[in-house]
Amino acid sequence: MSNNTEDRIRSFGNLFFGISVVLAIILTICGLFVAYNTALVGGWYYSELDMGVYSSVLLTFIIVAAVILLIGFFIKCILDVFAGIHENTRRTAELLSNTKTDSNVYSNVKTEYGVTAGSAKISVPKLDEWRCNNCNKINKNHITTCTCGQEKSKN
Ligand SMILES: [Zn+2]
Repeated sequence: MSNNTEDRIRSFGNLFFGISVVLAIILTICGLFVAYNTALVGGWYYSELDMGVYSSVLLTFIIVAAVILLIGFFIKCILDVFAGIHENTRRTAELLSNTKTDSNVYSNVKTEYGVTAGSAKISVPKLDEWRCNNCNKINKNHITTCTCGQEKSKN
């Protein structure tokens, strides 16, 4: 079991969600008791329940419990997303810094991220610009030689 940052972020999210589940369960159980005691008509001797009061009190507790549950789940999702971003960034950094398999680094990155040929965005030159066929640099029309040495006339 690795103990990297994204695992810690994920377990933090799971902790939040776990706490919210426990709180929601406790609140619902409390709601059952409070609703019963509030709705009791004529004291314990008669044990007659006002079902309108009972259900409205219980419903209030259940709504609060559901909101807490949703907040816990939302925090877990946000932290999972952050963990995913962090993991991708770390893997990219690991792949790029792996000098032992230098020739395989680019293909590793391509495999990792599903990069296919031509998937990178190439900007389109405007009317007063031209693109160098050698290095893809966009140059203004009055520039006759690209910084890479390619001449505009031979482009
Ligand atoms: Zn060029």
